[in-house]
Amino acid sequence: MDNPNKSPRKIVVIGAGISGLSCAYRINQLAEKSGLKVEISVLEASPRAGGKIITDRSGGILTEGGPDSFLTLKPEAENLARELGLEKDLVAANQKYSRVWIHHQKKLYPLPKGTGLIPSKIIPFLFSNLLSFGGRLRVISEPLVNPKLGDEDESLASFISRRMGPEFLQKIADPILSGIYAASSEQISLLSTFPHFREMEKRGGIFQSLAKAKPARVVFATLKDGLSSLSNALVQNLPAKALKRDSPVLSIQREHRGWAIKTPREIFLADSVVLAAPANSASLLCADFSPELSSVLSEIPFTSSVVVNLVYSRKSVGHSLKGYGFVSVQNGSSSLMAATFSSSKFPHRSNSDKALIRVFFREKSPSGEELISKNEEEIAKIAHQELAPVLGLKSNPEEFRVYKWMKAHPVYCVGHGLRMKRIESCLKDLPGLFLAGSSYYGIGLPDCIRSGQKAAEQTVQFLKNRPNKNPHVLQSMEA
Ligand SMILES: Cc1cc2nc3c(=O)[nH]c(=O)nc-3n(C[C@H](O)[C@H](O)[C@H](O)COP(=O)(O)OP(=O)(O)OC[C@H]3O[C@@H](n4cnc5c(N)ncnc54)[C@H](O)[C@@H]3O)c2cc1C
Repeated sequence: MDNPNKSPRKIVVIGAGISGLSCAYRINQLAEKSGLKVEISVLEASPRAGGKIITDRSGGILTEGGPDSFLTLKPEAENLARELGLEKDLVAANQKYSRVWIHHQKKLYPLPKGTGLIPSKIIPFLFSNLLSFGGRLRVISEPLVNPKLGDEDESLASFISRRMGPEFLQKIADPILSGIYAASSEQISLLSTFPHFREMEKRGGIFQSLAKAKPARVVFATLKDGLSSLSNALVQNLPAKALKRDSPVLSIQREHRGWAIKTPREIFLADSVVLAAPANSASLLCADFSPELSSVLSEIPFTSSVVVNLVYSRKSVGHSLKGYGFVSVQNGSSSLMAATFSSSKFPHRSNSDKALIRVFFREKSPSGEELISKNEEEIAKIAHQELAPVLGLKSNPEEFRVYKWMKAHPVYCVGHGLRMKRIESCLKDLPGLFLAGSSYYGIGLPDCIRSGQKAAEQTVQFLKNRPNKNPHVLQSMEA
């Protein structure tokens, strides 16, 4: 029998997306630093690691099926890439072509300079022909709008409409937000996504606050060989055999001093568990030991989307493509959300005689069955038909790659913050169980990495505070 004091503490991380992998990698580092002996198993349902990160490098064209790039304003993804030796592979988006258009009724309107989700400069709006004269006046009168008092959550649509007017919301803010969150701004919580906007309105308005703030340079970055090089590098830096692919977790049960995690082939016994699967999967796994946690997790809604990468001969595209792409004003008949001119934003992804365009559709029907249920050829045809009049396409795509994302985007609805409080309160009664992932405190890759790293710190702290006194020595067994 093992000597209990020398036997390693067993940790199971469920899900090998960027959150779970970052978590396992950081646990290993922290444990090593503090002299804690650990044995980590990362259980992944699918045959591949990386979760939503999926890079295809075939035929001299690099396409991303899930995330396309990350924001460097939040440093976690860039820092992790450097730490893993990928510094030389970091590629910033082409600053020469940073323009973004709004797509409205088959026409493209350049976004006024200085427009983010919320504009930082008033003057360009006076000259924008996207908004009516009344709409422009409404935007520039933002500093005169009284702030909403109190701390109650509201939707981003309500906030933006109050401050900038409904036309700005419909034609500028909602298209940008829908492209980021794959949900309508009517649903999304202000306090869980942009809490600082509420503070800004209390300090004299958005324009005034942004004028005083140091201008932040928004930079998108990626990796030369695609984002999967980040997840692959994490896998390579895990202890040998830690990652177990094709190992869907079927149930989790509380044991006397730990947890029993069941997969089709094995039962893993662990001192600590990090649940880094999305909340809709995590909810099912918590049902046995905490119906309450399971129920709150199931309240987080998810939307579906489809990504289509289309390759055209450069000569067959009428548009200059000198920009990052466009976001679409929603009109009810189309579910086209956005298009990225990938070969302009990241020119290394294709040869210069090709135009690589990535189209993003959001499923609007609650069942998520409209576009996603069609076959790949039909979907690519729809994507081409949507793009053709907008970009003056003279021929069909030479190649296409379709990625379907069923119930893949967590939506931070109004009240998400309260839901998170309920989740945290449940976790207090479940020692050794931690959550990580995009469903909770941020959907972007840097947020996911931060959540994984935080779960790693919590896990190691938990194990250090819990002496390995007379434990039953945890042994995995066949299921
Ligand atoms: C189409 C699309 C475009 C995006 N674009 C961007 C972008 O440009 N920039 C950006 O920053 N972010 C973007 N995002 C968001 C970002 O990609 C995700 O938030 C992030 O990758 C989620 O990582 P995760 O590890 O939390 O979850 P996931 O990647 O979903 O990983 C969870 C893993 O858990 C596994 N799992 C689930 N259930 C079980 C189980 N029972 N047992 C074992 N394993 C299980 C899954 O198979 C999966 O591998 C995009 C997302 C999508 C879908």
